[in-house]
Amino acid sequence: MLGPGPLLLAAARSDTVRRLVSAAPVTRPVVDRFVAGERLADAVQVVTGLVARGLDVTLDHLGEHVTDAAEARRARDAYLALAEALAAEKLGERAELSVKLSAFGQALPGGHDLAYRTVLPVVEAAAAAGTTVTLDMEDHTTTDSTLAILRDLRTRFPRTGAVVQSYLYRTEDDCRALAAAGARVRLVKGAYQEPTSVAYRDRRAVDRSYARCLRVLMAGDAYPMVATHDPRLIAIAGALAARYGRGPEAYEYQMLRGVRPDEQIRLAARGHRVRVYVPYGTDWYGYFTRRLAERPANPVPYTQLTLTPERQVYGYVVVDAVLGWDQG
Ligand SMILES: Cc1cc2nc3c(=O)[nH]c(=O)nc-3n(C[C@H](O)[C@H](O)[C@H](O)COP(=O)(O)OP(=O)(O)OC[C@H]3O[C@@H](n4cnc5c(N)ncnc54)[C@H](O)[C@@H]3O)c2cc1C
Repeated sequence: MLGPGPLLLAAARSDTVRRLVSAAPVTRPVVDRFVAGERLADAVQVVTGLVARGLDVTLDHLGEHVTDAAEARRARDAYLALAEALAAEKLGERAELSVKLSAFGQALPGGHDLAYRTVLPVVEAAAAAGTTVTLDMEDHTTTDSTLAILRDLRTRFPRTGAVVQSYLYRTEDDCRALAAAGARVRLVKGAYQEPTSVAYRDRRAVDRSYARCLRVLMAGDAYPMVATHDPRLIAIAGALAARYGRGPEAYEYQMLRGVRPDEQIRLAARGHRVRVYVPYGTDWYGYFTRRLAERPANPVPYTQLTLTPERQVYGYVVVDAVLGWDQG
């Protein structure tokens, strides 16, 4: 039988489950742990609080897989408003933007060019606000397109950041190319369900790949953004930074809102730059479901998930995961 991780990732792609979960009254308090709120003002308030505690931020206006170009333009407009708000609040030095190109139409016919054209004004607006954009990485079918768009954006905006996923076999090579180009690179394990033809499925293999990629990034000319909550990999990153003579200004740690907040503060207090990934907006379902799939990392109190019979699908998927966490 499938474990809760794959089930939850399958649920993330189901419209029926999406409707049930989004309507569930029990969901909101659980979502709030990971998502800053629905409105831009909520996000700005959360950013201000994190910055006051010595943390940097990357903001994600939630949304992915738009179905037409008009929706892609709406995603663009939400980010333009965000860049304007960061400029007005003088938060550009501390808060950058994370974008998913599927929200900019990447999966539509002609999507590569559409995504580039639609994201470009956001990258320009971010630069005008004194900040930059990192292109989140989605499933492996998008990797080539996303890295090609990154290369094009970096010709004018070299601080535009990449994300690479250590579960993909290709990623060590991608790290070499990005390090040679001197790019800002966020290294993650990867959050999508991928086939064994392209990705390691064994957790230890993913971790070993992460450590190899870290070495490539730390040894080269990249600016490494070490995005993990994993204490062993955080320690390895620190040791590699020391070995390759990098001070705390020459790399950073990144973690998700709602995951290991005490560790975020502890690292920042020790002089490290720590950036918190803060999603906001109404379209939280896909993001939320991926976080639930990462058990045992994200325990949610079982009592918050009392379910009515008509929410059986939600109950099956989520409670299975929660029971797994309780035992994990
Ligand atoms: C800033 C950021 C941006 C990201 N962007 C992307 C992206 O663009 N594309 C993408 O595919 N994925 C992205 N991810 C998600 C990433 O791929 C992983 O799915 C996610 O970070 C979980 O992996 P992990 O490295 O934290 O390790 P895990 O394997 O989930 O956890 C490893 C260990 O970390 C510790 N740990 C984790 N959570 C907790 C907790 N709540 N409390 C205590 N200990 C804990 C535990 O010791 C655990 O065993 C991003 C993650 C971050 C942090």
